[in-house]
Amino acid sequence: MSRESVVEQGYFGEFGGSFVPDELKRPLDKIGSEFHKYKDDPKFLEEYRYYLKEYVGRENPLTLAKNLTDKIGGAKIYLKREDLNHTGAHKINNALGQILLAKRMGKKRIIAETGAGQHGVATATASAMVGLPCTIYMGKVDTERQALNVFRMELLGAEVVAVNKGRGRLKEAVDEAFADLVANQEDTFYLIGSAVGPYPYPEMVKYFQSVISEESKKQILEKEGKLPTAIVACAGGGSNAIGAFANYIDDKEVRLIGVEPAEAPSISQGIPAVFQGYRSLTLLDENGDPKPTNSIAAGLDYQGVGPEHSYLNSTGRGEYVTATGQEALQAFQDLSKIEGIIPALESSHAVAHAMKLATELAEDDVIIVNLSGRGDKDVNQVYDMLK
Ligand SMILES: *Cc1c(COP(=O)(O)O)cnc(C)c1O
Repeated sequence: MSRESVVEQGYFGEFGGSFVPDELKRPLDKIGSEFHKYKDDPKFLEEYRYYLKEYVGRENPLTLAKNLTDKIGGAKIYLKREDLNHTGAHKINNALGQILLAKRMGKKRIIAETGAGQHGVATATASAMVGLPCTIYMGKVDTERQALNVFRMELLGAEVVAVNKGRGRLKEAVDEAFADLVANQEDTFYLIGSAVGPYPYPEMVKYFQSVISEESKKQILEKEGKLPTAIVACAGGGSNAIGAFANYIDDKEVRLIGVEPAEAPSISQGIPAVFQGYRSLTLLDENGDPKPTNSIAAGLDYQGVGPEHSYLNSTGRGEYVTATGQEALQAFQDLSKIEGIIPALESSHAVAHAMKLATELAEDDVIIVNLSGRGDKDVNQVYDMLK
């Protein structure tokens, strides 16, 4: 990205923005202005709400993890069940919202990047539903780790392009998708899967994921008659976390806790930098190149993080901690055995932290863990790690 221009929109304190070449600026600004046009349009919202209910299966439950709570003692643990959504994770909320926007904009083709495969599956699913062709870019290493998800996307009619550059991970897939958008901007909509990237994506993805905290707030008030002590969510790019936090940000008494993998701790160990078109805390080496990361959860294995999380961290409104792959693997097994719920390895990081936190809190405290996805996609990998 050579000639960089800075757009004033889309800042969260010193983070965010849009640092992209001029040929990308035009299509991204257009998506931003169309998003702002439609986000409060009752017809658009009615359509979005219709599909969330009839297709995704919302609202999903806020389940009291009674066995787990009894077993570890301390605060009550509730699980916000994004794992029960159609396609098995929170990503469909955002894919659906952006694809309905693309349709309104008259786009003829969808492209997306994917790491774990979940966003690719969500995008391929939503594309099939609205009848638009889609191309999914995925790092070569990730296509091997998540071969079943590749097949799933193909079944859904998507073309999956394995990106065999660099380390063959999510970062390279994102670069490839941007190049495609530059080349095909007239008819193509780039559907970003997390609250990352240049303006307007962090704001737009948060908007579509906010349904998580909109529901959980209503549900916890019904069940407990009060707001929770803490919300705990895993943070890769940060979309499930920002959606789980959104409706509580102004409720200062609610602790907002993001859990990063210790093997890719963008907030805990990153430095402010412009990376892939936006400014945020980023894991860089001495030469300013992205540092290799190595999380067991492909969806968390990324050097960057959504700019609003860097901002919430800088103001102290958000707390950011880490959990190791080992701790997540243990939580994966614990939740499966104790509650009969197999969590995604990503979500297992949040479960691991919540189990620690619960013991530090009192019995009348309440923790909501955002269970971002189900672990079926990870069972083969966990089998290999445990056997
Ligand atoms: C992709 C994914 C994540 C990480 O993405 P965020 O944008 O940080 O939410 C977390 N959990 C699951 C189940 C995922 O598929």
